[in-house]
Amino acid sequence: MTTLSRRDFLATATTAVPLGIVGAKGSAAEAASRVPSAVEAPATDRIVDIHVHFDAKNPNYLDDFLRVSDRLHLTACMLTPFEHRRAVADAARKHPTQIVPFGFVELDAPDVAQQVKELHDLGYRGLGELEFPRKAFIDRSYDPVYELANEYSWIVLFHTGIVLRAVFDKPEDVASGRMRPVHLDEIARRFPRLTVLGAHCGNPEYEWAAEVSRWNPNVFFDLSGSTLVKMRGRLNHFKHVFWWSAVGQDTATPNNDPSAFIKLVFGSDTELERIEGVVGQYRALFDACDVPESTRRMILGGTMSQFLKLPA
Ligand SMILES: [Zn+2]
Repeated sequence: MTTLSRRDFLATATTAVPLGIVGAKGSAAEAASRVPSAVEAPATDRIVDIHVHFDAKNPNYLDDFLRVSDRLHLTACMLTPFEHRRAVADAARKHPTQIVPFGFVELDAPDVAQQVKELHDLGYRGLGELEFPRKAFIDRSYDPVYELANEYSWIVLFHTGIVLRAVFDKPEDVASGRMRPVHLDEIARRFPRLTVLGAHCGNPEYEWAAEVSRWNPNVFFDLSGSTLVKMRGRLNHFKHVFWWSAVGQDTATPNNDPSAFIKLVFGSDTELERIEGVVGQYRALFDACDVPESTRRMILGGTMSQFLKLPA
């Protein structure tokens, strides 16, 4: 799928979301003093965006990204098509706290294992977004890719759930069912050194995504895509999806955080100028679900900063 079609799709799918919604626990004084800004974290709180697609159509993309990164204090896992691997590796060497290179490879490419080895030699830290596989993510023919990523203790971002259809007049060998979030359960168990990230929280299989993350300490999900738009009037639904806060029905978490929401990480999957708006969407979710402040900071960047060994 082309970047253009993804961008066109997002342009139509994303609408403005009210910012600064105060959760049920917010006091009147808090509500009155609350500034409706998308980015309210102190400057020392790094945001880590696991879902930034390198835009090869923009010749100034890296400079444009660095400006946004400076302004928002944001680090990107930059999902990089193989042909642009060197430019992004060079930029990551110059700006290691802002750009973390991830390789965007096709699981079905005949030389995919060789590509993965080369990405590792270039200093890549992970893979993604893996999407549009010809077979289910758990097909054994993909094991060479997962075995290498496991050997490197890499982070791998998988698309999960419904996927856009951009070309309507030609047959295409694409199926959302090959990318169900439940497949990440098997991958996480078979390759325990991997950190498995699922994009879009399995939209619409949120419950499966959450349950997979509950028992797998190496699985996390982002809420990029249309979910926070679709659910904006009923964000507290996610309290039922991430239900197990402090009840002892889960496994190890970063910082031993007892909130079930610790299994979320920040991902935007959008144009640079829209990232700040997605931060606002996440904050609306936090307020609607009474997510503790310390957990919010972990979701927006703390967890990934630990995994990537980034400075604050
Ligand atoms: Zn995706």
